[in-house]
Amino acid sequence: MNSYPSNITAIVGAQWGDEGKGKITDFFAGDSDYVVRFHGGNNAGHTIIVDGITFKLHLIPSGIVYGTPTSVIGNGVVVDPKALLDEIAYIKEKGVCPKLMVSDRAHVIMPYHIVLDSALSGHQGQLAAGSTRRGIAPVYADKMFRNGIRMVDLLEPDVFQEKLEKGYSFAKGLIEKSLGKFLEITLEDIFSAYLSYGKQLSEYICDTSVELYNAHKSGKSILFEGAQGISLDVDHGVYPFTTSSNTAAGHISTGTGVSFREVGRIIGVVKAYLSRVGESPLPSEIQDNEAETLREKGGEYGTTTGRPRRVGWLDLVQVRQAVRVNGLTEIALTKLDVLNGFDELPVCIAYDVKGNKIKEMPASLTSYRKAKPIYKILSGWGDLTDNVWNKGYDALPQTLKHYINFIESEVECPIKIVSVGPQRHETIIR
Ligand code: GDP
Repeated sequence: MNSYPSNITAIVGAQWGDEGKGKITDFFAGDSDYVVRFHGGNNAGHTIIVDGITFKLHLIPSGIVYGTPTSVIGNGVVVDPKALLDEIAYIKEKGVCPKLMVSDRAHVIMPYHIVLDSALSGHQGQLAAGSTRRGIAPVYADKMFRNGIRMVDLLEPDVFQEKLEKGYSFAKGLIEKSLGKFLEITLEDIFSAYLSYGKQLSEYICDTSVELYNAHKSGKSILFEGAQGISLDVDHGVYPFTTSSNTAAGHISTGTGVSFREVGRIIGVVKAYLSRVGESPLPSEIQDNEAETLREKGGEYGTTTGRPRRVGWLDLVQVRQAVRVNGLTEIALTKLDVLNGFDELPVCIAYDVKGNKIKEMPASLTSYRKAKPIYKILSGWGDLTDNVWNKGYDALPQTLKHYINFIESEVECPIKIVSVGPQRHETIIR
């Protein structure tokens, strides 16, 4: 028995994504009965290594690779059915039989959403969020316009036809009249291809809210797997440089139909420094040699593009917001090993905005653009070798323990998991 109020756990990113959620999820996923995604689409990415086999997943929850848990794609996720079928085939090729459920209420990414996404990115100029161009923003917009198509619709040709005519004509108008591009694919082609996808996916499509409710009632354990991070949340993040969904744990309720009241443990994953893909001001960003060292040591290059990521010092203004908005019960602090060898470690504790010290993320883009980091300089810990950290937390150098305690007291949340390397055993549980 654990000491948490329920056996529902959530893992969420507390920065800009790429915090190391995959490794932390790996800790819990194998023992969970259900692993559930509640937002976003195939714009996310996890690399999981199990028994020497590497899995790269974008849409299906990473629990799929352990065999035991059932993976659930909740209604708050947006599904590209072709991408989902490709991912299922990929998993099967690696010898795993997918135990998968997809919410009948999840919205479907259509070909015109992908075309719109590219056209929009060109239109937004300096305020473009750096879209992956997989149709994520347009499909969420269509959901709110009530032009959307849901997974269940792919199983009902008449309703699908009716909704597709509405969605297609709306998107075509936008693409061709407002954005000056051309939508090549015809409604007829989409209709037949997507009905076929629906048929192929029908065995997985169901009411996942009811499934999870009953599972929880019968004592099963559930793990919610967040994608991206709090600063990319469409409401609480640095808008408009965000993703198009709510990354915060609060979205578990609406994105899966499992009441937030039931979630017992909410783990925020914090990387000991920053990395950022895409645009937006980044107050604690660093440049030149220091940045190069951090980037190299942390392997901060895009997984698919190989492009160098922007890097910076840990920003506790951001983490403070992550603790508050997500209601974190604890933090998992990752990649501490990457900071080995630095004599001094600046940690951003507040921003200076035109002479005012602010400790919370500003909504104003003007303030955020002008924000200068106020640093507390902490001492480094030299090289942390295996035979030091594998003696447990108490054996860690005093300066490292101070670094951890300092973060805890600044953001008012306990750090219970400390990660000092990419492998599962390179972890200290406090
Ligand atoms: P996510 O987007 O938050 O899921 O991030 P990933 O799980 O893709 O993690 C980013 C990278 O960091 C992966 O290559 C992990 O193997 C690696 N990683 C995770 N934790 C640690 C750590 O404590 N130290 C080091 N050096 N690498 C880590």
